[in-house]
Amino acid sequence: MPTIVFGNYSLMLQEKPMKLSEFQVVIAEGLIKAEVKMGRPSLEEAANAPANRAQPSPHPCNDARLDNVGHMIQYGSRQWCKLLSCHQKSHFYCIKCNMHLCINKDRNCFMEFHTKKTI
Ligand SMILES: [Zn+2]
Ligand SMILES: [Zn+2]
Repeated sequence: MPTIVFGNYSLMLQEKPMKLSEFQVVIAEGLIKAEVKMGRPSLEEAANAPANRAQPSPHPCNDARLDNVGHMIQYGSRQWCKLLSCHQKSHFYCIKCNMHLCINKDRNCFMEFHTKKTI
């Protein structure tokens, strides 16, 4: 019987050092550390800033006449009533508007002056 000798057959599993793999691991660790350091506090939202409330529009001169605040009648010198439609003289005037307005049994220019939008 012929003897077949396979000889000294050995399977050598050469374990080469995986240089590339190790390198990649180092890179990955470096990236993780960098990411932690890059953490920044979140930005404040500009929308949370206190918004200035819209101020009420300043009153034009005519609105002060109609605001019904502080219009007190006062007795003073006799002058022409400042109501354009009136042509009488009056001792009475509004201390806020500083305008003479007559008040008598026939007319109340004081009330008319402070209630009508157009005089
Ligand atoms: Zn007035
Ligand atoms: Zn008058």
